[in-house]
Amino acid sequence: MSSPFSSLVWRHFKLNPDNPTIGICQICLKTKTEKDSSILRKNNTTNLWNHLEADHYQEFSQLNLLKINQNKLL
Ligand SMILES: [Zn+2]
Repeated sequence: MSSPFSSLVWRHFKLNPDNPTIGICQICLKTKTEKDSSILRKNNTTNLWNHLEADHYQEFSQLNLLKINQNKLL
């Protein structure tokens, strides 16, 4: 977790304990299997953000608001 901004996305993901390059979407996990909820995060959290934006826009917007508020505090 390189920055406070990227760590925000981890509110909706957890790391796959067997493979730390994979984040598991906690929202998808409610309705899908763990395998279907897995998102490869590579070196950053961009894929996780993209997944939220595409599939869970409400959660994405909420995190974006938090992001903007954190920016104001800096
Ligand atoms: Zn998801």
